[in-house]
Amino acid sequence: MSAAMLKVELLAHTEGEKTAALAGKLCYSDASIGDLTGVVAVAEQRKFLSMLNRAGHHSVFEHLSFTFGIEGVSRALTHQLVRHRIASYSQKSQRYVAHKGGFDYIVPPAVAADSEGLKKYSKIMNNIAREYDALAALGIPAEDARYVLPNACETKIIVTMNARELLHFFRLRCCERAQWEIRELATEMLKKVARVAPSVFTAAGPSCVSGVCSEGKMSCGHASRNRGKFTEMIQTEIND
Ligand SMILES: Cc1cc2nc3c(=O)[nH]c(=O)nc-3n(C[C@H](O)[C@H](O)[C@H](O)COP(=O)(O)OP(=O)(O)OC[C@H]3O[C@@H](n4cnc5c(N)ncnc54)[C@H](O)[C@@H]3O)c2cc1C
Repeated sequence: MSAAMLKVELLAHTEGEKTAALAGKLCYSDASIGDLTGVVAVAEQRKFLSMLNRAGHHSVFEHLSFTFGIEGVSRALTHQLVRHRIASYSQKSQRYVAHKGGFDYIVPPAVAADSEGLKKYSKIMNNIAREYDALAALGIPAEDARYVLPNACETKIIVTMNARELLHFFRLRCCERAQWEIRELATEMLKKVARVAPSVFTAAGPSCVSGVCSEGKMSCGHASRNRGKFTEMIQTEIND
């Protein structure tokens, strides 16, 4: 049993931004697809895609696919993540993978910062692990024993999203109104994709980065600070 740390890897993605640029060019050209393939230079692709992005011609971004390997996250996080329906998921099963002998778990920062809270939290995790093992010892199958496992339980998930869904996901989940764990994950995912498809993700992040805050009365009130933070973060990734 130990506290788990977030790990995000970009496992696979479509080649640069080429496919989306080709799809965009096709809409405005008389040429055959064969003739269009390869004629769009990278610099031109980027300019063209930035223009399509600004114009809201977002369907071309559906041709860009990104697959992430995500570890060290809680079941509380993945419950929120899988609410995003335009995506594909494969998650470690608690039916086929038993948690005998203990499980790793996520410690929220507020708990980690409170020594008394952390002691209590660790004790609860240890108690759950012990009771889970006790059920397993009675012959209760893993698919039933898992009902006592906590939201904090560490899990692993592979996620594929297209660029259009990612832009939407970042608007909602990089926002300060999103829960801290999924916000951390979304921000890490954004850093990864900004490197490989900069013109698509250059103004990605919470809604305040590219426009006005969509949270109304619930706004965090830090739009300008967040705009600066995300713009700088993305530029650092692109220039790195
Ligand atoms: C800050 C925050 C708090 C939240 N709190 C809660 C909560 O308390 N309780 C709760 O249950 N959920 C909550 N959610 C989850 C939220 O309601 C959405 O389920 C989740 O964010 C997925 O977003 P989505 O439906 O826009 O996106 P996706 O599923 O990613 O879909 C992308 C877009 O596709 C379109 N789309 C997809 N499916 C359909 C469809 N069937 N019909 C029409 N259009 C579709 C929509 O335009 C949608 O925005 C919260 C989310 C956030 C960010």
